[in-house]
Amino acid sequence: MNHILREQVAQFEENADKVLAGNLISSLMLVSLIYPAVSARSALFWLLLQVMFNTVRLFMSLHHRRRVLQTEEQIRFRYRHHLLMTVISGLIWGLSAFIIFPEHSSEYQLLYLLVMVGYVASALSLSNLLPLAYPLLMLILVICIAPRLAALDQPYSTRLIIIILLFAIMMLIVVARAFRIQYVESISLKLELHQQAYQDVLTRLFNRRYFMERLKEEWFRSIRNEQPISIILLDLDHFKRLNDRYGHQKGDECLVEIAAAMAQTVNRVGDFVARIGGEEFVMVLPSTSQQAAAGLAERVRERIASIGFTHQGERFSVTVSMGIASVVPPVGSDCERLFNMADLALYQAKENGRDRYEIADLSDWVTPETKPETA
Ligand code: GH3
Ligand code: MG
Ligand code: MG
Repeated sequence: MNHILREQVAQFEENADKVLAGNLISSLMLVSLIYPAVSARSALFWLLLQVMFNTVRLFMSLHHRRRVLQTEEQIRFRYRHHLLMTVISGLIWGLSAFIIFPEHSSEYQLLYLLVMVGYVASALSLSNLLPLAYPLLMLILVICIAPRLAALDQPYSTRLIIIILLFAIMMLIVVARAFRIQYVESISLKLELHQQAYQDVLTRLFNRRYFMERLKEEWFRSIRNEQPISIILLDLDHFKRLNDRYGHQKGDECLVEIAAAMAQTVNRVGDFVARIGGEEFVMVLPSTSQQAAAGLAERVRERIASIGFTHQGERFSVTVSMGIASVVPPVGSDCERLFNMADLALYQAKENGRDRYEIADLSDWVTPETKPETA
């Protein structure tokens, strides 16, 4: 779902009545300013066109406002609808260059251009809400007004055209800049959302959700490549005792430091560490044999045990127990079993005295397809 476009469309619709009212007021202003220099019939005709179009548009937007945007298709449809309406609105404004242009009076021509410039400047807010709408509007106006001025054959018409083109270019640069900033913002917003969804707040490691999703991916990759995959489950020893003795905050500080040490030990492409519980972590090691995983587990164990913590002058260290599971996953197998086996090995490591790793025995791994039929 394109949340940004959805928000833009919703905001545009919220402000639609103001946009339309602004349109009508500007039209009235234009006509009343240049009225003496154009025919009453033309002025009335153009004004009527504006009133009719904006009234229809207002009813449509009131109708839209009651309907909640739910699907991607609805959002795109509504965006295109508003874009089309903006183009038509631009065309009606552009038509003024043919219907109510004060051909014979240079003073009124200036007034006409002044209102046009005001209209273009006031429409700037569009650029934030409906990308593309503003450049299109500008293009239509320039296409309609510039030839009209050229046809005047006055000594100042070339200068006016140049000024109008420069003004249009300047406005487009402003819009492009705003759009770029918005684009960069939308990308960083996306990244932030991704981080919030997949990162553990305390340790900055990946979280459980990330672990579950990535483990599945790596699992299937290992099946395809017929490569081993290893996981190490880690649980800090007697962490409750540590909290009770030194306080929860000190416990948190230890977790952060230990997490950083784990992340530094694992640095091959594809490997990752995640915090999957309070003081429980997991290392996922694709294309890594059981032997290599055991080597890494020993390095992690030593590294964590060697961190010296202090609390009010008292020095202490933390140990970790680990369960390793490693397998070349057979076709049709499920990674959940690997996790359960690592958990069992971790339990054994705790049973056997902690501060150590145990390796799960997966030699009898049986896939659903190869499981023998029981009589
Ligand atoms: P064992 O060696 O058997 O794993 O003992 P343990 O005390 O580590 O195990 P247990 O599962 O009984 O307790 C885990 C403790 O970890 C409970 C809680 O005090 C602590 N803990 C869990 N999450 C956090 C956390 O986010 N911050 C802090 N400071 N402590 C936590
Ligand atoms: Mg635990
Ligand atoms: Mg523990």
